[in-house]
Amino acid sequence: MEKVIGIDLGTTNSCVATFENGRPVVIPNKGGYKTTPSIVAVAENGKRLVGHVAKRQAVTNAENTVFASKRLIGRSFDSPEVQHTIKTAAFAAVCGPNSDVRIRLHGKDHSISELTALILSEMRRVAEDYLGEPISGAVITVPAYFNDAQRQATKQAGEIAGLNILRIINEPTAAALAYGFDKKVDKKVAIFDFGGGTFDISILEIADGVFEVMATAGDTFLGGEDFDHRIINHLVEEFKQENDVDLSIERMAMQRLKDEAEKAKCELSFSTSRALNLPFIATRDKRPLHLRTTLTREKLEEMTGDLVAQCIDICRTALDDAGVSVEEIGEVILVGGQTRMPLIQREVEAFFGRPPCKNVHPDEVVAMGAAIQAHVLIDDSADMLLLDVTPMSMGIATAGGQFCVLIPRNTTIPTQHSHMFTTAHDNQPAVKIAVLQGESRRVSENQLLGEFLLSGIREMPKGLPEIEVTFAIDSNGIVNVSALDRDTGKRQSIKVTCTGGLAEEELQRVIEEQREYEIKERDEEAVTRECDRIESLTQEIKKLLPRAERLLGSAGVQAMDRKLSAAREAQASRDAARIRGAGQELERSLTTLRGLVTP
Ligand code: ADP
Ligand code: MG
Repeated sequence: MEKVIGIDLGTTNSCVATFENGRPVVIPNKGGYKTTPSIVAVAENGKRLVGHVAKRQAVTNAENTVFASKRLIGRSFDSPEVQHTIKTAAFAAVCGPNSDVRIRLHGKDHSISELTALILSEMRRVAEDYLGEPISGAVITVPAYFNDAQRQATKQAGEIAGLNILRIINEPTAAALAYGFDKKVDKKVAIFDFGGGTFDISILEIADGVFEVMATAGDTFLGGEDFDHRIINHLVEEFKQENDVDLSIERMAMQRLKDEAEKAKCELSFSTSRALNLPFIATRDKRPLHLRTTLTREKLEEMTGDLVAQCIDICRTALDDAGVSVEEIGEVILVGGQTRMPLIQREVEAFFGRPPCKNVHPDEVVAMGAAIQAHVLIDDSADMLLLDVTPMSMGIATAGGQFCVLIPRNTTIPTQHSHMFTTAHDNQPAVKIAVLQGESRRVSENQLLGEFLLSGIREMPKGLPEIEVTFAIDSNGIVNVSALDRDTGKRQSIKVTCTGGLAEEELQRVIEEQREYEIKERDEEAVTRECDRIESLTQEIKKLLPRAERLLGSAGVQAMDRKLSAAREAQASRDAARIRGAGQELERSLTTLRGLVTP
C-alpha cells in the first residue's frame, strides 16, 4: 500500500501522522516529540534549521529566525496583519514582486511559501525516517477560515517541499474526522480550534460515516500569540514605569520576554500565580537591570477577556449560519494548545451549556484527521465521506463598486456557479472581471483574489456577446475560473493568480533550489556520518595499537600511522568518496589488529 501522511501545519507547532494497521498514528520526530515547533532559521553558515534546533538558537540569532510564518502566508505586504506582525518581529521583512511578504535572512530574501516549505519538508523527513520509504502523498490542513490566497500559498509550499498534495483540508474538519473515526457517532458537534495564530469554529453533523460541515467561522488573526503579546506589553509597561527603560526597542530582550511570557501563560493554566524572572534584561547607567515580577491568573484573565469574548461571538455567528441552536449541539470538542486556558474552557462551557469533550488530544487530533483523510483518498474501500464548505462568499465586482455574490459562504464544496457577461460598449474587444472573497457589500472591503481579462470578443453591438464565466471552488477550497464564449464556443481557462503567492516561473525555480539543497544536505549528512565512523575506528585502533606493536614490527606500525593520517586528511577534505575509502581501509586495519591481539 502507498504511504500517505497527514500534516497539521500549525502556526506554533506542526504534527505529522500516518495511517497504519487501520488507525491513524502520530509520528514522533528525531527528538521523540510528537509536535515540532513551526520555526525556521538560517544559521551563519547558511544551514537551514527547522523545529527544536531553530527554537534553541532563537535568542542568539533572533534576526534570522522566523516564528509564526503562517500569520503571513498568502497576505499582501501592505495588509494591517502583516504590518502588525513585522512591527514586533526581530527579522526584517520587505515587499515581494507579487506584493507578497519576503523575509530577509542573512541578506537573502525568502518568500513565505519557501519558509513554510522548510517546515513541511522536515515533517516529510520525520515520516520517511519512521516509515523507511518515500511518501507518495500528503494531506495538509489549513484553518477553515483561510481564504483562497492563503490556501494557494500553502499548496505552493507543499509543492516546494516535494510533496504530492492529495488535498488541503480544514483543521476543525480534520479534528472531527479523528473524533468520529471508528465509532458510531450520530450527532451535531462543534469544533472549537484555538491555536497559536488562528481561531476556527466549525459546526458539523456526523451520521453514518458522513461528516458534513454545516457552517464554519473564524479569525485567521486571533490566537495564543495575542495572549502572549498582552503579557509582553504589560511587562514592558511595568518595567518602563519602574526603571524608565523601554525594553520594546531591544531585540534580544524582547525575544527573552516573549519566551518567558508564553511560559508563564501556559503555567497559569495549572497554577494561579507565576513568578517571572529575567536577570540582566537591560542596563541603565552601566548598571544591570533585572525583570522580577509576579503574574496571577486573575490578571491574565483580566488582560485577555476581550479576546475570549471575541471567540464566543464568532461561535454565535457559526451557529446562526448553520441554523442550529446551542441545545442541538451534542458535543463540543476543544482543539489547539490555547484551549488549555481555564478561562476559555469556562466560557465555552457557559456558552454551549455543556462541558467540552475530554477524549481527544488537542495537539494531535488535527494531524490524525489529516492522515485519515489521506487514507480515505487512496483507499476506495474506506467508507467515510467528508463534505466541507467554503468559509467565505465569493463573487465579482460590478459597476459602481458593488460586490455581487455568486457563491455564498458555507456552500458545500466542490461547487460551481456560472454567470453570463456581456459588453458595455459597441465593438468592445475585452471584458475585465475582478474576483473577490469576503462578506462586505462594498468591493473595496473584500479580498481581491485576482483579475482576469476575457479577450478576443468578436466585434458586435454592446450587450450582444454572451460570455459564460464559471466560478468553481474545488475540494481544496481553491477557486478556479473558466470562461466560454457562447458565440464562438471558444473556451478560455483562467487560473486566478494569487496575490501574496509566487508566480509560476519563480515557483519552479524555488522547487528546483529546494531539491538541490536537500540533495546537498543529504550528502553533507552522509559525510558527517562517515567522519564519525572514522573517528570511532581511529579511537579503537589507537587503543589496540600499543598491544600489537611487537607483532606488527616498526614497518607495520608506520603503515598503520600512515593510514590514520590518510583518514584524517580525508576527513578534512569533506570528499564523500575519499572518506568512505579511508574508512574501509581503517576497518580492514582494525580487523587485522584484533586478530593480532586476541589470543
Ligand atoms: P497551532 O495549531 O497554531 O500551531 P497549537 O495548537 O500548537 O497551535 O497551540 C499553540 C498555542 O497554545 C500557543 O500560543 C501556546 O502558547 C498555547 N498553549 C500551549 N499550552 C498551553 C497552556 N497550557 N495554556 C495556555 N496556552 C497554551
Ligand atoms: Mg492547530
